[in-house]
Amino acid sequence: MARQSQDLLFDVVIVGGGVCGTALLYSLSKYTNVGKIALIEKASEVAQVNSKHTSNSQTLHFGDIETNYTLEKARKVNRGASMVKRYLLKHDTDQTIYTKYHKMVLAVGEAQADKLRERYEVFKELFPDLQLIKKEEIDALEPNVLEGRDAEEETLALFTPEGYTVDYGKLAQSFVEQATENTDKSIDLMLGTKVLSIEPVLDMQGEERFLIATDQQTLEAKTVVVASGAHSLLFAKQLGYGQDYALLSVAGSFYFTPNLLNGKVYTVQLAKLPFAAIHGDPEVHDAQQTRFGPTAKVMPMLERGKYGTIWEYFQTAGLSLDAFRSFFNILSDWTILIYILMNFIYDIPLIGKRLFIRKVRKIVPSVRLRYLKFAK
Ligand SMILES: Cc1cc2nc3c(=O)[nH]c(=O)nc-3n(C[C@H](O)[C@H](O)[C@H](O)COP(=O)(O)OP(=O)(O)OC[C@H]3O[C@@H](n4cnc5c(N)ncnc54)[C@H](O)[C@@H]3O)c2cc1C
Repeated sequence: MARQSQDLLFDVVIVGGGVCGTALLYSLSKYTNVGKIALIEKASEVAQVNSKHTSNSQTLHFGDIETNYTLEKARKVNRGASMVKRYLLKHDTDQTIYTKYHKMVLAVGEAQADKLRERYEVFKELFPDLQLIKKEEIDALEPNVLEGRDAEEETLALFTPEGYTVDYGKLAQSFVEQATENTDKSIDLMLGTKVLSIEPVLDMQGEERFLIATDQQTLEAKTVVVASGAHSLLFAKQLGYGQDYALLSVAGSFYFTPNLLNGKVYTVQLAKLPFAAIHGDPEVHDAQQTRFGPTAKVMPMLERGKYGTIWEYFQTAGLSLDAFRSFFNILSDWTILIYILMNFIYDIPLIGKRLFIRKVRKIVPSVRLRYLKFAK
Protein backbone atom coordinates (compact mmCIF):
# COMPACT_ATOMS: atom_id res chain seq x y z
CA MET A 1 0.00 0.00 0.00
CA ALA A 2 1.35 3.44 -0.91
CA ARG A 3 1.33 5.44 2.34
CA GLN A 4 0.07 8.99 2.34
CA SER A 5 1.69 11.80 4.29
CA GLN A 6 -0.06 12.56 7.60
CA ASP A 7 -1.54 15.66 5.90
CA LEU A 8 -3.49 13.42 3.57
CA LEU A 9 -4.65 10.97 6.24
CA PHE A 10 -8.18 11.78 7.45
CA ASP A 11 -10.46 10.36 10.11
CA VAL A 12 -13.46 10.83 7.82
CA VAL A 13 -13.66 11.72 4.14
CA ILE A 14 -17.08 12.69 2.80
CA VAL A 15 -17.54 12.32 -0.95
CA GLY A 16 -20.21 14.71 -2.25
CA GLY A 17 -21.15 18.19 -1.08
CA GLY A 18 -24.92 18.09 -1.48
CA VAL A 19 -27.24 18.70 1.45
CA CYS A 20 -26.54 15.18 2.82
CA GLY A 21 -22.74 15.38 2.72
CA THR A 22 -22.67 18.90 4.19
CA ALA A 23 -25.20 17.97 6.92
CA LEU A 24 -22.85 15.16 7.92
CA LEU A 25 -19.90 17.57 7.91
CA TYR A 26 -21.85 19.85 10.25
CA SER A 27 -22.84 16.97 12.57
CA LEU A 28 -19.28 15.62 12.74
CA SER A 29 -17.89 19.07 13.38
CA LYS A 30 -20.34 20.06 16.13
CA TYR A 31 -21.36 16.84 17.83
CA THR A 32 -18.44 14.37 17.67
CA ASN A 33 -14.78 14.07 18.63
CA VAL A 34 -13.74 13.25 15.06
CA GLY A 35 -10.69 15.45 14.49
CA LYS A 36 -9.72 15.52 10.83
CA ILE A 37 -12.35 15.65 8.12
CA ALA A 38 -12.36 16.28 4.37
CA LEU A 39 -15.34 17.07 2.16
CA ILE A 40 -14.71 16.40 -1.53
CA GLU A 41 -17.03 17.95 -4.12
CA LYS A 42 -16.49 17.80 -7.86
CA ALA A 43 -18.25 21.10 -8.60
CA SER A 44 -16.72 24.44 -7.67
CA GLU A 45 -19.59 25.08 -5.21
CA VAL A 46 -21.59 22.79 -2.96
CA ALA A 47 -25.12 21.61 -3.79
CA GLN A 48 -25.28 22.09 -7.55
CA VAL A 49 -27.12 18.85 -8.36
CA ASN A 50 -30.22 17.47 -6.57
CA SER A 51 -29.99 19.89 -3.65
CA LYS A 52 -29.99 23.00 -5.86
CA HIS A 53 -33.23 24.92 -5.33
CA THR A 54 -34.27 24.60 -8.98
CA SER A 55 -33.93 20.79 -8.91
CA ASN A 56 -36.37 19.82 -6.16
CA SER A 57 -39.70 20.74 -4.61
CA GLN A 58 -38.14 22.81 -1.80
CA THR A 59 -40.32 21.13 0.83
CA LEU A 60 -39.36 20.11 4.34
CA HIS A 61 -41.34 16.88 4.61
CA PHE A 62 -42.59 16.03 8.10
CA GLY A 63 -44.98 13.28 7.04
CA ASP A 64 -48.11 15.10 8.21
CA ILE A 65 -49.73 15.75 4.83
CA GLU A 66 -47.84 13.21 2.68
CA THR A 67 -50.70 10.81 2.11
CA ASN A 68 -48.41 7.97 0.96
CA TYR A 69 -46.57 7.83 4.32
CA THR A 70 -47.53 5.31 6.97
CA LEU A 71 -47.63 6.50 10.58
CA GLU A 72 -44.39 4.66 11.25
CA LYS A 73 -42.64 6.34 8.33
CA ALA A 74 -44.07 9.75 9.32
CA ARG A 75 -42.72 9.33 12.86
CA LYS A 76 -39.23 8.68 11.50
CA VAL A 77 -39.34 11.48 8.92
CA ASN A 78 -40.77 13.91 11.49
CA ARG A 79 -37.79 13.31 13.79
CA GLY A 80 -35.29 14.20 11.06
CA ALA A 81 -37.31 17.10 9.64
CA SER A 82 -37.75 18.62 13.11
CA MET A 83 -33.96 18.75 13.46
CA VAL A 84 -33.74 20.66 10.18
CA LYS A 85 -36.52 22.98 11.35
CA ARG A 86 -34.72 23.70 14.63
CA TYR A 87 -31.48 24.32 12.73
CA LEU A 88 -33.24 26.82 10.47
CA LEU A 89 -34.97 28.63 13.33
CA LYS A 90 -31.66 28.93 15.16
CA HIS A 91 -29.28 29.84 12.32
CA ASP A 92 -31.47 31.48 9.69
CA THR A 93 -33.17 34.20 11.69
CA ASP A 94 -33.42 36.56 8.68
CA GLN A 95 -34.94 33.75 6.58
CA THR A 96 -32.61 33.66 3.60
CA ILE A 97 -32.72 29.85 3.47
CA TYR A 98 -36.38 29.12 4.18
CA THR A 99 -39.84 30.64 4.17
CA LYS A 100 -42.73 29.55 6.31
CA TYR A 101 -46.19 29.03 4.85
CA HIS A 102 -49.24 27.04 5.75
CA LYS A 103 -49.74 23.80 3.86
CA MET A 104 -52.63 21.50 3.10
CA VAL A 105 -53.52 18.37 1.21
CA LEU A 106 -56.73 18.69 -0.71
CA ALA A 107 -59.39 15.97 -0.99
CA VAL A 108 -61.93 16.27 -3.77
CA GLY A 109 -64.88 13.86 -3.84
CA GLU A 110 -66.21 11.50 -1.23
CA ALA A 111 -63.55 8.79 -1.59
CA GLN A 112 -60.62 11.18 -1.08
CA ALA A 113 -62.47 13.00 1.72
CA ASP A 114 -63.00 9.69 3.55
CA LYS A 115 -59.32 8.91 3.16
CA LEU A 116 -58.34 12.24 4.73
CA ARG A 117 -60.83 11.84 7.60
CA GLU A 118 -59.36 8.43 8.44
CA ARG A 119 -55.84 9.76 8.15
CA TYR A 120 -56.58 12.68 10.44
CA GLU A 121 -57.73 10.32 13.22
CA VAL A 122 -54.53 8.28 12.94
CA PHE A 123 -52.05 11.17 12.58
CA LYS A 124 -53.46 13.89 14.86
CA GLU A 125 -51.62 12.64 17.92
CA LEU A 126 -48.21 12.76 16.22
CA PHE A 127 -49.00 16.13 14.60
CA PRO A 128 -51.05 18.20 17.08
CA ASP A 129 -51.15 21.20 14.68
CA LEU A 130 -53.02 19.18 12.05
CA GLN A 131 -56.60 20.30 11.36
CA LEU A 132 -59.35 18.99 9.12
CA ILE A 133 -60.80 22.03 7.38
CA LYS A 134 -63.90 22.52 5.25
CA LYS A 135 -64.72 24.72 2.28
CA GLU A 136 -65.21 27.98 4.21
CA GLU A 137 -61.79 27.72 5.86
CA ILE A 138 -60.11 26.60 2.62
CA ASP A 139 -61.67 29.59 0.89
CA ALA A 140 -60.34 31.99 3.50
CA LEU A 141 -56.80 30.60 3.14
CA GLU A 142 -56.66 29.75 -0.56
CA PRO A 143 -59.51 31.37 -2.52
CA ASN A 144 -58.13 30.21 -5.90
CA VAL A 145 -58.47 26.57 -4.85
CA LEU A 146 -62.25 26.85 -4.75
CA GLU A 147 -62.86 29.34 -7.54
CA GLY A 148 -64.43 27.54 -10.50
CA ARG A 149 -64.75 24.24 -8.63
CA ASP A 150 -67.94 22.16 -8.74
CA ALA A 151 -69.87 23.41 -5.71
CA GLU A 152 -71.63 20.06 -5.28
CA GLU A 153 -68.44 18.09 -4.90
CA GLU A 154 -67.24 17.45 -1.38
CA THR A 155 -63.95 19.31 -0.80
CA LEU A 156 -61.96 19.26 2.40
CA ALA A 157 -58.32 19.53 3.42
CA LEU A 158 -55.83 18.43 6.03
CA PHE A 159 -54.19 21.65 7.06
CA THR A 160 -51.26 22.73 9.21
CA PRO A 161 -49.64 26.14 9.71
CA GLU A 162 -46.28 24.31 9.95
CA GLY A 163 -45.12 24.42 6.32
CA TYR A 164 -41.48 25.12 5.46
CA THR A 165 -40.10 25.83 2.01
CA VAL A 166 -36.35 25.34 2.00
CA ASP A 167 -33.54 26.24 -0.39
CA TYR A 168 -31.53 23.08 0.26
CA GLY A 169 -28.58 24.52 -1.70
CA LYS A 170 -28.33 27.46 0.70
CA LEU A 171 -28.86 25.10 3.61
CA ALA A 172 -25.83 23.10 2.41
CA GLN A 173 -23.75 26.30 2.25
CA SER A 174 -24.88 27.20 5.74
CA PHE A 175 -23.91 23.73 7.05
CA VAL A 176 -20.40 24.26 5.66
CA GLU A 177 -20.11 27.74 7.18
CA GLN A 178 -21.32 26.57 10.58
CA ALA A 179 -19.09 23.49 10.49
CA THR A 180 -15.94 25.45 9.71
CA GLU A 181 -16.54 28.51 11.95
CA ASN A 182 -15.15 28.45 15.49
CA THR A 183 -13.97 24.90 15.37
CA ASP A 184 -10.80 23.28 16.67
CA LYS A 185 -11.11 20.54 14.08
CA SER A 186 -9.11 20.25 10.91
CA ILE A 187 -11.60 20.50 8.04
CA ASP A 188 -10.47 20.42 4.40
CA LEU A 189 -12.96 21.57 1.79
CA MET A 190 -11.86 20.19 -1.54
CA LEU A 191 -14.13 21.83 -4.09
CA GLY A 192 -13.64 21.28 -7.80
CA THR A 193 -12.16 17.87 -6.98
CA LYS A 194 -13.59 14.70 -8.47
CA VAL A 195 -13.27 11.34 -6.76
CA LEU A 196 -12.26 8.72 -9.29
CA SER A 197 -12.06 5.59 -7.17
CA ILE A 198 -12.16 4.29 -3.61
CA GLU A 199 -10.13 1.27 -2.63
CA PRO A 200 -10.05 -0.52 0.74
CA VAL A 201 -6.53 -1.37 1.95
CA LEU A 202 -4.86 -2.47 5.20
CA ASP A 203 -2.35 -0.27 7.02
CA MET A 204 0.81 -1.46 8.79
CA GLN A 205 -1.20 -2.45 11.88
CA GLY A 206 -3.70 -4.38 9.81
CA GLU A 207 -6.41 -1.71 10.24
CA GLU A 208 -8.75 -1.08 7.33
CA ARG A 209 -8.18 2.18 5.50
CA PHE A 210 -9.50 3.64 2.25
CA LEU A 211 -7.45 5.10 -0.56
CA ILE A 212 -9.45 7.79 -2.28
CA ALA A 213 -8.08 8.72 -5.69
CA THR A 214 -9.19 12.11 -6.98
CA ASP A 215 -8.29 14.02 -10.12
CA GLN A 216 -5.86 16.07 -7.96
CA GLN A 217 -4.29 13.70 -5.44
CA THR A 218 -4.82 10.50 -3.49
CA LEU A 219 -6.09 10.70 0.10
CA GLU A 220 -6.28 8.11 2.82
CA ALA A 221 -9.16 7.80 5.28
CA LYS A 222 -10.11 5.69 8.26
CA THR A 223 -13.73 6.09 7.25
CA VAL A 224 -15.22 7.19 3.98
CA VAL A 225 -18.83 8.27 3.52
CA VAL A 226 -20.18 8.41 0.00
CA ALA A 227 -22.96 10.98 -0.32
CA SER A 228 -22.64 11.62 -4.02
CA GLY A 229 -26.26 11.31 -5.12
CA ALA A 230 -26.85 8.90 -7.97
CA HIS A 231 -23.09 8.38 -8.29
CA SER A 232 -23.07 6.69 -4.89
CA LEU A 233 -24.13 3.34 -6.32
CA LEU A 234 -21.20 3.44 -8.72
CA PHE A 235 -18.78 3.71 -5.77
CA ALA A 236 -20.72 1.13 -3.75
CA LYS A 237 -20.32 -1.33 -6.60
CA GLN A 238 -16.57 -0.57 -6.83
CA LEU A 239 -16.37 -1.53 -3.15
CA GLY A 240 -18.35 -4.71 -3.67
CA TYR A 241 -21.68 -3.54 -2.22
CA GLY A 242 -25.11 -3.34 -3.84
CA GLN A 243 -24.23 -5.53 -6.80
CA ASP A 244 -27.89 -6.50 -7.19
CA TYR A 245 -29.12 -2.90 -7.37
CA ALA A 246 -29.80 -0.78 -10.45
CA LEU A 247 -31.07 2.77 -10.75
CA LEU A 248 -34.15 4.06 -12.49
CA SER A 249 -33.20 7.74 -12.63
CA VAL A 250 -36.10 10.17 -12.37
CA ALA A 251 -35.79 13.93 -12.81
CA GLY A 252 -38.52 16.45 -12.11
CA SER A 253 -39.66 19.59 -13.91
CA PHE A 254 -41.82 22.45 -12.68
CA TYR A 255 -44.08 25.09 -14.13
CA PHE A 256 -44.37 28.64 -12.83
CA THR A 257 -47.53 30.73 -12.72
CA PRO A 258 -48.08 34.17 -11.25
CA ASN A 259 -48.99 34.16 -7.56
CA LEU A 260 -52.01 31.85 -7.23
CA LEU A 261 -51.43 30.24 -3.84
CA ASN A 262 -50.59 31.58 -0.40
CA GLY A 263 -49.10 28.32 0.88
CA LYS A 264 -48.42 24.75 -0.17
CA VAL A 265 -51.34 22.82 -1.61
CA TYR A 266 -50.88 19.10 -2.24
CA THR A 267 -53.12 16.61 -3.97
CA VAL A 268 -53.83 13.15 -2.57
CA GLN A 269 -51.04 10.76 -3.48
CA LEU A 270 -51.62 7.87 -5.89
CA ALA A 271 -50.81 4.84 -3.75
CA LYS A 272 -48.78 2.99 -6.38
CA LEU A 273 -46.39 5.82 -7.17
CA PRO A 274 -43.24 6.46 -5.16
CA PHE A 275 -43.06 10.09 -6.38
CA ALA A 276 -44.42 13.11 -4.51
CA ALA A 277 -47.93 14.07 -5.63
CA ILE A 278 -48.23 17.18 -7.78
CA HIS A 279 -48.47 20.28 -5.65
CA GLY A 280 -48.32 24.02 -5.91
CA ASP A 281 -46.52 26.46 -3.64
CA PRO A 282 -44.79 29.83 -3.59
CA GLU A 283 -41.18 29.72 -4.84
CA VAL A 284 -38.79 29.79 -1.87
CA HIS A 285 -37.25 33.17 -2.80
CA ASP A 286 -40.18 34.75 -4.63
CA ALA A 287 -43.71 34.55 -3.24
CA GLN A 288 -44.98 36.26 -6.42
CA GLN A 289 -44.36 33.05 -8.35
CA THR A 290 -46.24 29.82 -7.69
CA ARG A 291 -44.49 26.60 -8.68
CA PHE A 292 -46.46 23.54 -9.79
CA GLY A 293 -44.89 20.11 -10.12
CA PRO A 294 -42.88 18.04 -10.08
CA THR A 295 -43.28 16.01 -13.22
CA ALA A 296 -41.32 12.76 -13.07
CA LYS A 297 -39.19 12.07 -16.10
CA VAL A 298 -37.24 8.84 -16.37
CA MET A 299 -33.87 9.40 -18.05
CA PRO A 300 -30.77 7.24 -18.47
CA MET A 301 -28.25 9.58 -16.83
CA LEU A 302 -26.93 10.19 -13.34
CA GLU A 303 -27.25 13.97 -13.54
CA ARG A 304 -29.85 15.72 -15.62
CA GLY A 305 -28.48 17.61 -18.61
CA LYS A 306 -24.98 16.14 -18.16
CA TYR A 307 -24.75 13.81 -21.12
CA GLY A 308 -21.37 12.54 -19.93
CA THR A 309 -23.21 10.74 -17.13
CA ILE A 310 -25.12 8.51 -19.58
CA TRP A 311 -22.19 6.09 -19.71
CA GLU A 312 -21.93 6.19 -15.89
CA TYR A 313 -25.64 5.48 -15.69
CA PHE A 314 -25.25 2.27 -17.69
CA GLN A 315 -22.17 1.31 -15.62
CA THR A 316 -24.28 1.80 -12.48
CA ALA A 317 -27.31 -0.05 -13.77
CA GLY A 318 -25.13 -2.86 -15.00
CA LEU A 319 -26.34 -4.00 -18.38
CA SER A 320 -27.44 -7.26 -16.85
CA LEU A 321 -30.48 -9.29 -17.75
CA ASP A 322 -31.68 -8.95 -14.13
CA ALA A 323 -31.63 -5.15 -14.36
CA PHE A 324 -33.69 -5.20 -17.57
CA ARG A 325 -36.07 -7.74 -16.07
CA SER A 326 -36.52 -5.51 -13.07
CA PHE A 327 -37.18 -2.40 -15.21
CA PHE A 328 -39.62 -4.42 -17.27
CA ASN A 329 -41.48 -5.52 -14.13
CA ILE A 330 -41.80 -1.96 -12.89
CA LEU A 331 -42.84 -0.57 -16.26
CA SER A 332 -45.30 -3.34 -17.02
CA ASP A 333 -47.58 -1.94 -14.33
CA TRP A 334 -50.18 -0.03 -16.34
CA THR A 335 -50.53 2.85 -13.83
CA ILE A 336 -46.77 3.40 -13.69
CA LEU A 337 -46.29 3.07 -17.46
CA ILE A 338 -49.01 5.61 -18.29
CA TYR A 339 -47.67 7.93 -15.60
CA ILE A 340 -44.14 7.76 -17.02
CA LEU A 341 -45.29 8.29 -20.61
CA MET A 342 -47.43 11.28 -19.63
CA ASN A 343 -44.54 12.75 -17.69
CA PHE A 344 -42.36 12.59 -20.81
CA ILE A 345 -44.94 14.60 -22.69
CA TYR A 346 -45.23 17.29 -19.97
CA ASP A 347 -41.70 18.50 -20.82
CA ILE A 348 -42.37 18.86 -24.57
CA PRO A 349 -42.73 22.52 -25.59
CA LEU A 350 -46.28 23.65 -26.51
CA ILE A 351 -47.99 20.25 -26.04
CA GLY A 352 -46.54 19.67 -22.56
CA LYS A 353 -48.20 22.52 -20.77
CA ARG A 354 -51.55 21.88 -22.50
CA LEU A 355 -51.63 18.45 -20.85
CA PHE A 356 -49.99 19.42 -17.58
CA ILE A 357 -52.54 22.16 -17.02
CA ARG A 358 -55.11 19.44 -16.27
CA LYS A 359 -53.02 18.50 -13.22
CA VAL A 360 -52.69 22.12 -12.16
CA ARG A 361 -56.47 22.56 -12.47
CA LYS A 362 -56.95 19.88 -9.83
CA ILE A 363 -55.45 22.47 -7.47
CA VAL A 364 -56.48 25.77 -9.10
CA PRO A 365 -59.45 25.03 -11.41
CA SER A 366 -59.54 28.46 -13.04
CA VAL A 367 -55.86 28.65 -14.04
CA ARG A 368 -55.30 29.90 -17.61
CA LEU A 369 -52.91 28.27 -20.07
CA ARG A 370 -51.08 31.53 -20.71
CA TYR A 371 -50.15 31.69 -17.02
CA LEU A 372 -48.03 28.54 -17.24
CA LYS A 373 -44.31 28.95 -17.90
CA PHE A 374 -41.82 26.07 -17.94
CA ALA A 375 -39.35 26.54 -15.06
CA LYS A 376 -35.71 25.96 -15.95
C1 LIG B 1 -38.04 16.53 -8.64
C2 LIG B 1 -37.53 16.32 -7.26
C3 LIG B 1 -38.18 16.93 -6.20
C4 LIG B 1 -37.71 16.74 -4.90
N1 LIG B 1 -38.32 17.39 -3.88
C5 LIG B 1 -37.86 17.27 -2.62
C6 LIG B 1 -38.45 17.99 -1.55
O1 LIG B 1 -39.37 18.77 -1.75
N2 LIG B 1 -37.98 17.80 -0.30
C7 LIG B 1 -36.92 16.95 -0.05
O2 LIG B 1 -36.53 16.80 1.12
N3 LIG B 1 -36.32 16.26 -1.06
C8 LIG B 1 -36.76 16.41 -2.32
N4 LIG B 1 -36.15 15.75 -3.35
C9 LIG B 1 -35.00 14.90 -3.03
C10 LIG B 1 -33.77 15.75 -2.72
O3 LIG B 1 -33.55 16.71 -3.74
C11 LIG B 1 -32.56 14.85 -2.59
O4 LIG B 1 -32.85 13.78 -1.72
C12 LIG B 1 -31.35 15.58 -2.01
O5 LIG B 1 -31.10 16.80 -2.68
C13 LIG B 1 -30.16 14.65 -2.11
O6 LIG B 1 -29.03 15.32 -1.58
P1 LIG B 1 -27.63 14.61 -1.71
O7 LIG B 1 -26.67 15.44 -0.94
O8 LIG B 1 -27.75 13.18 -1.39
O9 LIG B 1 -27.32 14.63 -3.29
P2 LIG B 1 -26.87 15.84 -4.23
O10 LIG B 1 -27.44 17.13 -3.82
O11 LIG B 1 -27.08 15.40 -5.62
O12 LIG B 1 -25.31 15.92 -3.92
C14 LIG B 1 -24.42 14.95 -4.38
C15 LIG B 1 -23.12 15.67 -4.64
O13 LIG B 1 -22.12 14.72 -4.95
C16 LIG B 1 -21.28 15.30 -5.91
N5 LIG B 1 -20.54 14.24 -6.59
C17 LIG B 1 -21.06 13.27 -7.40
N6 LIG B 1 -20.06 12.49 -7.85
C18 LIG B 1 -18.91 12.96 -7.30
C19 LIG B 1 -17.55 12.57 -7.39
N7 LIG B 1 -17.16 11.53 -8.15
N8 LIG B 1 -16.62 13.29 -6.71
C20 LIG B 1 -16.98 14.36 -5.95
N9 LIG B 1 -18.25 14.77 -5.84
C21 LIG B 1 -19.21 14.07 -6.50
C22 LIG B 1 -22.23 16.06 -6.83
O14 LIG B 1 -21.57 17.06 -7.59
C23 LIG B 1 -23.21 16.63 -5.82
O15 LIG B 1 -22.86 17.92 -5.39
C24 LIG B 1 -36.59 15.92 -4.66
C25 LIG B 1 -35.93 15.32 -5.73
C26 LIG B 1 -36.39 15.52 -7.02
C27 LIG B 1 -35.65 14.89 -8.16
